Amino acid sequence: MPEGDSLHRLAAKLGPVLEGREVLAFRARRLSDAAARSLVGRRVVSVTAKGKNLLVRVDDGRVLHVHLAMHGRVFVERPRSAFWAPPRGEPDMRLAVDGAAVVGQRLPVLRLLTASEERRAPDLAGLGPDLTASGWDEPEAIARLRALPDRAIAEALLVQRAVAGIGNVYKSEVCFLERVDPRTRLSELDDAELQALLRRASALLRANVGDGPRVTRRSLGGSRLWVYGRGGRACLRCGTPIVRFLQGAPPGRSTYACPTCQPARPARSAGGARP
Ligand SMILES: [Zn+2]
Repeated sequence: MPEGDSLHRLAAKLGPVLEGREVLAFRARRLSDAAARSLVGRRVVSVTAKGKNLLVRVDDGRVLHVHLAMHGRVFVERPRSAFWAPPRGEPDMRLAVDGAAVVGQRLPVLRLLTASEERRAPDLAGLGPDLTASGWDEPEAIARLRALPDRAIAEALLVQRAVAGIGNVYKSEVCFLERVDPRTRLSELDDAELQALLRRASALLRANVGDGPRVTRRSLGGSRLWVYGRGGRACLRCGTPIVRFLQGAPPGRSTYACPTCQPARPARSAGGARP
């Protein structure tokens, strides 16, 4: 029986499979064909767990809400060869991206919600302010982050009960754009810095609601992202190689940063070496 923590593990497993990828095909027993088709071509922004709910957020602000209840199951299928075929029988859900598919069976709840429907859903109340929505409550978001003083900022930005919407890609991009070391503890950041990070995240999320690939860097050529997925390659600002490391509870989530543009805080760098 999936509990909240296993849902979080499931979200951590699905995140690297889905986040940043385009939905190539989607079928769901409980949704109309039109609703299912409307997800094709969208890009997955984040995969998170809230309680026993799994939330797959896409780049037009909608969220696919799955509840596993007692017997539900969600897993990843990876076709191994051109001769691979999906197992027999119709699953409740099949969401395909490049190289993998996420399959759900015996799902009592599967629905596609707009941002405002999500805010009104009684079973999803308790999520932090949704940075993709207009008029999100900034003091509330800062107060909820302040409840996580020992968390590294990049980890805290993923806590959906603090602020909703930021996934693993934006986490790294926002810290880079605001020149904040992702390992900085929340208690070391002042309100102005938190405000800048949140406003930046909201601007990116909102700018990417709509058609086309997700972009955090506007340029005529080259990478659409500043640091995410660019480990070992030159920083687009200063040329220093981008570093990748893991943060959060094992197995951890990848974070990317530029050691030059996002220096460690002086108070911390005296404390010892960093990976
Ligand atoms: Zn740099």
